[in-house]
Amino acid sequence: MSLWQKLTGREPKDPTRYPDSGAKHTLLLGGAGPNADIVRASRKHVVVADLRRAPGVTLLANLEDPFPFKDATFDEVFSLEFLEHIPHPDLPRVLKECRRVLAKGGRWLSGCPDMEVLASWFGLQCECVDGWQADPKCAKCGGRARISPSRWLKSVFGNQEDYGDARRGDTHKNGLWFGRVKELLEEAGFAEVKRVDAGVYYARFKADTKVVVEANRG
Ligand SMILES: [Zn+2]
Repeated sequence: MSLWQKLTGREPKDPTRYPDSGAKHTLLLGGAGPNADIVRASRKHVVVADLRRAPGVTLLANLEDPFPFKDATFDEVFSLEFLEHIPHPDLPRVLKECRRVLAKGGRWLSGCPDMEVLASWFGLQCECVDGWQADPKCAKCGGRARISPSRWLKSVFGNQEDYGDARRGDTHKNGLWFGRVKELLEEAGFAEVKRVDAGVYYARFKADTKVVVEANRG
């Protein structure tokens, strides 16, 4: 049992889902979601930063601003479903902040909707898709559709929930794909940028619409 479970009595959704990175101090960005427990269960020490007040958030901060940490505080910066919520003009600076708070050799890992896939699925939307499965007998798409129109809209533009602070935190403000993330990371000074298997961090089928990227602080 992890210290987090002992203190909170909460069970992670799936304690085996994320491989242990070996990190001693992890910064979880935009952690006010269900994956915070899974990250905690597979890491030694996690600071959870989010704009939104929620169970498990240890640091309330607008991450569009400079991060409230000293240089080289963490050896891992982890995020899922975070990058697409940062306005696109601000992302280069946010990535520089990620690198600044990482120690030498530290690891950056992030997953977000893959706009390359979602763009290619624009013509593969159909109401018949239930979960991720099209109706093989559908008269409209002949079973070829990959995504429902509502899920396509949410994947591209976010759920657009207002967290009560009028920032509409769940609106997507950026569209990303591997080539773009790689370019931005390298401009921010990161090295060894590579795509990793999204299936490790996302449920089956959902993983097909996600891009997960890992990089080294250098
Ligand atoms: Zn159909």
